[in-house]
Parts: sequence; C-alpha cells; structure tokens
Amino acid sequence: MFVFIPSLNINMSEHYQKYRNTIRKVARRHRRLKDKWINEQLRDKSCKYCGESEIVVLKFYPDDRKIRADSKKKSLKKDTRKLLLEHIDNNVIVCHNCFLKKDNDLIDEDAFTNLYHTS
Ligand SMILES: [Zn+2]
Repeated sequence: MFVFIPSLNINMSEHYQKYRNTIRKVARRHRRLKDKWINEQLRDKSCKYCGESEIVVLKFYPDDRKIRADSKKKSLKKDTRKLLLEHIDNNVIVCHNCFLKKDNDLIDEDAFTNLYHTS
C-alpha cells in the first residue's frame, strides 16, 4: 500500500537543499582559496621578458594550464602544495603576451639570459 507523507518529503528536500547549498559554499570557498593561492605565487613577480607585473596577466611558462588545473584539483594541504611549488619553480613567470610569443618561438632566449628585470 502506498502511503504518501507530504511533510516528510518537504523536510527531506529542505534538508537536502541546505546540505547542497553548504557543499556548494564550501566548494566555492575552496575554489577561491586556490585561486588566491595561485595569485600569491605571482605576487611581486614580473614577466621575465618584458617586466609586466600585473598579476591577472601573469602565467607560468610552459605549464600554466597544468599548474592551475592541479591547484584546482589538489588539496590545500602543505605537502600537496609543496609539490606544486616545486612545479612552479621549474617554470618561468611570463605575461600573457610573452607566453604567446614564447609559444610561437618569437622570443630570442639568448637576448635575455643575462638580463635582470627590476620592475
Ligand atoms: Zn611579458
């Protein structure tokens, strides 16, 4: 026999709704923290080639995609982040423009070998 209990259904869906919202909030917070973490790695840095220092246009060369994807995928735990930091250390920081130039072999690496940008 089918027994319909409307109040129970409503409570459960409310509970589920709250639960889902909490999960979403936590996920969003973690996403933000991970974005912030990436930005922290770019803070006070500048493009190796042109000296651009605006964080929003800075990237890791050549593994920007991988590093950002890993940062999103992996936890914020210290030892996990240590591996990511090592990965970042093996990259150079460049701006979006220089990233594209570099990717298209338009940058003469020799011309920059001994150049130190202070900006
Ligand atoms: Zn640049």
